[in-house]
Amino acid sequence: GTRRRWVERRHDIDAFTPGLLSLYESLKPSEEHKAKQRQLIESLTKSVIKEWPNAQLHLYGSCANSFGTSHSDVDVCFEIDIASEDTAQVVLTLAGTLHKDGFHNVEPITSARVQIVRMTDPGSGFSCDICINKFFAVANTKLLKDYAQIDERLLQLALIVKHWAKLRGVNETFRGTLSSYAYVLMCISFLQQREPKILPCLQAMEPTYIMVVDGTECAYFDEVHQLQDFGAENKESIAELLWAFFHYWAFDHDYRNDVISVRTGNTISKQEKNWTTRVGNDRHLICIEDPFETSHDLGRVVDRQTIRILREEFERAASILQYDDDPCVALFEPY
Ligand code: ATP
Ligand code: MG
Repeated sequence: GTRRRWVERRHDIDAFTPGLLSLYESLKPSEEHKAKQRQLIESLTKSVIKEWPNAQLHLYGSCANSFGTSHSDVDVCFEIDIASEDTAQVVLTLAGTLHKDGFHNVEPITSARVQIVRMTDPGSGFSCDICINKFFAVANTKLLKDYAQIDERLLQLALIVKHWAKLRGVNETFRGTLSSYAYVLMCISFLQQREPKILPCLQAMEPTYIMVVDGTECAYFDEVHQLQDFGAENKESIAELLWAFFHYWAFDHDYRNDVISVRTGNTISKQEKNWTTRVGNDRHLICIEDPFETSHDLGRVVDRQTIRILREEFERAASILQYDDDPCVALFEPY
């Protein structure tokens, strides 16, 4: 359940906005960084086209959804006309080709839920994951990118939250904490629910973009240039929003009953998703609905122990923002 605890926001919270904004500026990838990414994509394309002349390459994840930092990896999806049961074979062949063409640390990973080739680009040192035909990732990348164009406070909040999560060790799905993707959805959902709202719910509007993935329609309003003033009535600064974000996850979120849902722009109940009990390994202790694959809970990796760690970290962040003399330092102390 919730631990509702009313805390009156410190009166001087906005004093930390300049510090947070300069942190945000330092997290944004540089032009040089982006140029190196483009070079990597180019050499990758050359290498793959030899083997699969009809292949198409899509960028996804933080190198394309605009939530990347200078520490982010490069995520690439190859569109190849093959049957899904041949994916493992393609992954192995692709790994061979990339190794021959001089990429470093090439490693085919065929045992994981999503089969990928992982490698390092010798030119830039960037690490790169390549998956095959994962079009939901391509679709949700575009959705996130479109949300990011509506109000800059989303990018500010999400880059700072991602930075915090990495330094505090709670951005590691293999250890039972949350993915970067999950944190960005938490930020979008939070801004959709501010009063006045800072973000709209694009999937609740008349669709102008439709992509069908495995029989599921991914549809939403994507003419976001028309929504430039959407959040203008809300004057909250990044310091106020960061404070409120951590207070929400520390004290106000109803962990027992609620699911956050970017698709609806609201919270919905676990009951209606049938996420009230553990199913297999999915414990549903913190519930974040995927906007397109709505049966996916991005919180499913979280277990009894890591939910405790996560909530302690949210509470720690909330209390630092409330009481600390220098929250911009304390908040990001490596754990
Ligand atoms: P980082 O900067 O940490 O690399 P990222 O945005 O690339 O951040 P990842 O968690 O590495 O985040 O995920 C890469 C992309 O894969 C996401 O942006 C999303 O498109 C997709 N993705 C990741 N996890 C899921 C998931 N559980 N369900 C659907 N799509 C996912
Ligand atoms: Mg990534």
